[in-house]
Amino acid sequence: MYLNNKEMKTILITLITCFAMLSNCTAQEESGVTHHKFTVVKTDAEWMKILTPEQFKVTRRKSTELACSGAYWKNHEKGIYKCVCCKLPLFDSQTKFESGTGWPSFYQAIHKDAILEVADHSFGMERIEIMCSRCGAHLGHVFDDGPRPTGLRYCLNSLALDFEKDEKVSKK
Ligand SMILES: [Zn+2]
Repeated sequence: MYLNNKEMKTILITLITCFAMLSNCTAQEESGVTHHKFTVVKTDAEWMKILTPEQFKVTRRKSTELACSGAYWKNHEKGIYKCVCCKLPLFDSQTKFESGTGWPSFYQAIHKDAILEVADHSFGMERIEIMCSRCGAHLGHVFDDGPRPTGLRYCLNSLALDFEKDEKVSKK
């Protein structure tokens, strides 16, 4: 069986389209954020009104605060750490540990759906970025050298967090 020119052309176009769709899908899967719907969405101007310039740089521009510079790496009080942008509870002080890095570190998120994990290839490193699942704020990165039980180390920027002290615990 021989294919005429028109049939060949159709097959070729179909193949090219399939390939294009496939590679497009792969790129989207890699970014991880593409299929996620953030429920809190604001413009840069709106974020600038409610955040300090430092908080804006970290959460909306993926900057990293200097080690040992933040408000929470040495905080040992009991309470909840929330997203500084949208106030979604992210981490419980019960899962905070001393990592020796100078950044607040946790071995577990308060709820698995609170955090979005995305592959980050910036600065020639292979890291996993963590974001707030509600507003997309950049929070820090997660590494696999944490303590038990999870073996994970969620390395946070203090500037991305808002600490709410547990009043009941501190009054006891
Ligand atoms: Zn948020």
